[in-house]
Amino acid sequence: MFDAARSRPIVMIVVGALAFIPYLVLGGDTLAAGIYWDVVIAIVLAIAAVHVWKLNHDRVAWALIIGGQIAFLVGDVVWLVLEHIVRSDAYPNLGDAAYLSGYVLLASGVFKLVPRGRRLGDVGVFVDGVIVAVAATILLWVFVIGPTALEGDATLAARLVSTAYPAGDLLLIALGAQVAMRMRWTIPGILLVVGMCTMLAGDLWHAHLATTDGYTAGHPVDALWFASYILVAAAVLHPQAVPSFTRPESESSLTLARIAFLATISILAPVALGARVAVDSAVSVLVIGTVVLFLLVVMRLAIVANQLQTSRSQLEHDATHDPLTGLGNRALYSERVRQAILASATTPARTAVLCIDLDDFKTVNDSLGHAAGDRMLQEIGDRLRAVVRRVDSVARLGGDEFAVLVHDEPADAALEVADRLLAEIAKPVHLGANLVAQPTASIGIAYGAPGESVESLLRDADVAMYIAKNAGKGRWEVYRPGMRQQVVDRFELRSDLSNALDRSELFLHYQPIVEVESGRVSGIEALVRWQHPVKGRIEPNRFIGLAEETGLIVPIGRWILREACLQAQRLDPSADGPHVAVNVSAVQLRTPELILDVTDALTVSGLAPQRLLLELTESAMIDDYELAATRLTEIRALGVRIALDDFGAGYTSLRQLQSFPVDVVKLDQSFINNTMANDVGVLNGLIALATSLGLETVGEGIEENEQLSLLRDANCRFAQGYLFSRPVPSEELVAALAQAGHAAGGN
Ligand code: C2E
Ligand code: MG
Ligand code: MG
Repeated sequence: MFDAARSRPIVMIVVGALAFIPYLVLGGDTLAAGIYWDVVIAIVLAIAAVHVWKLNHDRVAWALIIGGQIAFLVGDVVWLVLEHIVRSDAYPNLGDAAYLSGYVLLASGVFKLVPRGRRLGDVGVFVDGVIVAVAATILLWVFVIGPTALEGDATLAARLVSTAYPAGDLLLIALGAQVAMRMRWTIPGILLVVGMCTMLAGDLWHAHLATTDGYTAGHPVDALWFASYILVAAAVLHPQAVPSFTRPESESSLTLARIAFLATISILAPVALGARVAVDSAVSVLVIGTVVLFLLVVMRLAIVANQLQTSRSQLEHDATHDPLTGLGNRALYSERVRQAILASATTPARTAVLCIDLDDFKTVNDSLGHAAGDRMLQEIGDRLRAVVRRVDSVARLGGDEFAVLVHDEPADAALEVADRLLAEIAKPVHLGANLVAQPTASIGIAYGAPGESVESLLRDADVAMYIAKNAGKGRWEVYRPGMRQQVVDRFELRSDLSNALDRSELFLHYQPIVEVESGRVSGIEALVRWQHPVKGRIEPNRFIGLAEETGLIVPIGRWILREACLQAQRLDPSADGPHVAVNVSAVQLRTPELILDVTDALTVSGLAPQRLLLELTESAMIDDYELAATRLTEIRALGVRIALDDFGAGYTSLRQLQSFPVDVVKLDQSFINNTMANDVGVLNGLIALATSLGLETVGEGIEENEQLSLLRDANCRFAQGYLFSRPVPSEELVAALAQAGHAAGGN
């Protein structure tokens, strides 16, 4: 793309080069040529000055630099007047004062260009600059200052001024070297440095010519000075108009190129000297020998530097990457996010951070071992890498937590990436010969606002991820204000729950289960309740999940089992009294304690085992089928029965139903309502199949008579729901049972 602003320096250089031709045509040494020179340079500097005025950074630095150029121009004008109009050859004169102040202005401008914090910088870089300056000093001393200033029979003032010129050059070299060593090479920076070098070359050449009085205006040296005006002015015209100094990490690193450069610089003086005295063979052998030895030592150092560089890069890589997956780590990711937020201030595209957490990874680690867990993480890492675009980056933040940084362009690219990530993660992972895991992940997405801190952005994504997990896992959520509070509330609830049992805030309600045909109450289901001291009554759907996450479900479940058995025994001590159904969570099923808790509850209460019914949801059985089957078989061996709860709410097929070690199927409320709306055939078929498998069937959530008729027509044996009774406290149980029987019978 053609960029007018970027091409301005090129135009300036081309036009400037062309503008030099008339000067040569005019003869250089004439008044006309002199006037032409001064006018052209004045125009060039005026253009530069206008651009300096428009700069919005480093304006003072560039003003000083251009000011120095203007001082040089003043020197040129004075020289022209003295030479061609006054016809005086006074030396030193007013022009020299202008020239010398030009050096000071230029030097201070260059100095000011370096950001305050970087002026001292790294000691290594400082020494590099000093090496360049010292080498230049030696060369200047031997070839220029020595011959011009110290010899001859000029006046003291003349000698001082003659020394001041190379001293000014030295000042610029020393400073320029320091600046150049710290600079990142941008176009304006290069133009400025090349412009200054051109001027120095001109000065030195001129000084050398002066020793033999070989200079007159129009000499090729003029081309160098002319070029330096043009180049420095061109630097200001570039839109980037400031050399950038931001390369802190690589600043002090001793690259091979830099070693070669410094070695060349420092060997220059002795080589030049050697060349001068080459006539004397003994000395030249000495010089050549020294140079060869010097180069060998430098080579040796270069090898060491290279090794250091390699191990340094390795260390740097190790410090910023995760060894297991090879992805970037939290430190690197945070840095990338920081830069993305900064950059987003200037572009319309938002920055999105995605926090990705594998679901139930702990189970994989605990049940399959750490080696399998590591395999899984590596596989997931590879998948993430494959999904994201080149502009985006992936990291592993630790454990089973990954993160992706998305440049959200086109809009909602982040959501697409999230969808693709979920799909990719959910593909089966082969962890061994016969071991296939089906991982899922929860993703939280947060969009960065310019000026936002990395920490708060990552925290938002984390909060959204947490919400996604609680909303059922295997999904993404975008952070919204208020989510943080939600999470805080949940954490509060979680810690309150740990005391609930000790403070007797938990209690049980019971809901009757009736036989559809006879209206006889066949059993009761125990449903836990939490009376929170501040928040009031809390429903199980809000706290069972928390209890599972924290493992509190184990002691709570133990208490529920015992309490429910005691209640059933109190209600009817006979062996064929109504059964009591107790909900058991998947987490409890995974612990070996469950069987002990069950026997304990039976022993303590004296309840006949066949009167206890454990309810498990289908997901609890499917998640780890082998384990569930073994545990359930053990429990059934005690005489306790098992019910499959919420059947029809999930995805269990009829075929699977056949293989579960269960005695009762509880048809979910939603299943019955769906049937009402659709096809009665499915319900009939299902109940027929369950019955033929020897399973008993219970219809849940029966609120209306139509639902009950439906069950009756389908030959469903038992029913439960508000139609008979709501869940009630134990004190109201006897009355509730009578009413339930009445409600069923009265139909
Ligand atoms: P669930 O085991 O399927 O329990 C039946 C739920 O349906 C109960 O909700 C009950 O109050 C409600 N219900 C009963 N009849 C009707 C009706 O006619 N209409 C409607 N709309 N709802 C009805 P609850 O007590 O809020 O319990 C919700 C879930 O929490 C239970 O579903 C169960 O999965 C879990 N839960 C309850 N108590 C315990 C417990 O002690 N331990 C464990 N692990 N989970 C429990
Ligand atoms: Mg239940
Ligand atoms: Mg249920």
